Amino acid sequence: MTDLILIKYGELTTKKGNRKLFIKTLENNISKKLKDYKYEIKYNNARMYIKCDKNDTKDIINKLKYIFGIHSIVISYYAQTKDELFDLVLTILKSKSFKTFKVDTKRADKDYEIPSMDFSRMLGANILKNINCKVDVHNPDIKIRVEIRKDGFYFYTDEIKGASGYPVGIQGKGMLMLSGGIDSPVAGYLSLKRGVDLECLYFDSPPHTSIQAKNKVIELANIINEYSGNIKVNVVPFTKLQEEIYKNVDDTYIITIMRRMMYRIAERLSKKHNCKIIINGESIGQVASQTLTSMSVINSVTNMPVIRPVACMDKLEIIALSEHIGTYKTSILPYEDCCTIFLPKHPVINPNLDKCIEMEKKFDYESLIDECINNIETINLKKDNKFEDLL
Ligand code: ATP
Ligand code: MG
Repeated sequence: MTDLILIKYGELTTKKGNRKLFIKTLENNISKKLKDYKYEIKYNNARMYIKCDKNDTKDIINKLKYIFGIHSIVISYYAQTKDELFDLVLTILKSKSFKTFKVDTKRADKDYEIPSMDFSRMLGANILKNINCKVDVHNPDIKIRVEIRKDGFYFYTDEIKGASGYPVGIQGKGMLMLSGGIDSPVAGYLSLKRGVDLECLYFDSPPHTSIQAKNKVIELANIINEYSGNIKVNVVPFTKLQEEIYKNVDDTYIITIMRRMMYRIAERLSKKHNCKIIINGESIGQVASQTLTSMSVINSVTNMPVIRPVACMDKLEIIALSEHIGTYKTSILPYEDCCTIFLPKHPVINPNLDKCIEMEKKFDYESLIDECINNIETINLKKDNKFEDLL
């Protein structure tokens, strides 16, 4: 026995010129996600249909929930003739509990002889004759949606919400600065949702930061990788550069200079991996390095666009989203990051650009950056490596 899963595209249907590419990217992403299942996929400009074994339907729907570009998912039933449809509707409705219903018909095949309203009325009358229930057009317990197409009749009842957004990869790649905190995984998720695939960058400062801190970042990347499947984590050995900053730079400017170095490295790595933007979890005003002055002084080391998806969200909103995507519990594990280890008592909130440039002249940061780039460890995420296994 097979089921037919119908996928509605949502937002991408507004992109007329790019529609073909959108649908093709979505199809590729679905194929990757469902590679362990047997199914057939068909699509047109308005819908995608997946025909699969009835036993796999539930699992497949759970996988589809992680694919951006899908507005909603429904199990659709098919009948070749009107009479077959009327019987099938009764069979399906008898397996559900409801008191009121409404029929909604769309006639995609305008040549079909019965107008939509009349069709809904006829089907409704047949339901009333056979099942003890009532019509409620305003607030029904169940909606029966029928689509009349050239090849027959499709109907469905329950609509499952999809992840929305654009198919991942449609916008190329971005370089996500991924720390172990709450904000950057959320920033990554939001970018994926706009169709930007990710490469991640983590600044590791052993022995000041622990292996647990690094593994926590890998686990966070694993969680958001459910929405992509292509994510890699580039671990940058940051210790030497960070120690040089600590030795040469005024206390209050340590974080500002450190972040300028992070941006320089992010830019170099973005170019190497074909990433068009840098993404991070900065949020306006959250800490000293995220005042508008700090951001502009830090940002001035690169001409690449830096996207900050959570810049205008408050912390509670970011936390709610991180709970929703499942990163929160990992993010709050108490392993310290390089930013917190070297945090001065009074970091500057209005840094001066000329001062930064002067302080940076005191040490050869270019060759230290080269060393960082040359010694990056790249981690390919495996679907099944759980955090416990990484410890
Ligand atoms: P929190 O959720 O606690 O604010 P955070 O990761 O956002 O944690 P911040 O100090 O606010 O920490 O850092 C701002 C941004 O800089 C992060 O969101 C992240 O994008 C980037 N960042 C900070 N530390 C690192 C790191 N060790 N590796 C990679 N990116 C980092
Ligand atoms: Mg933050």
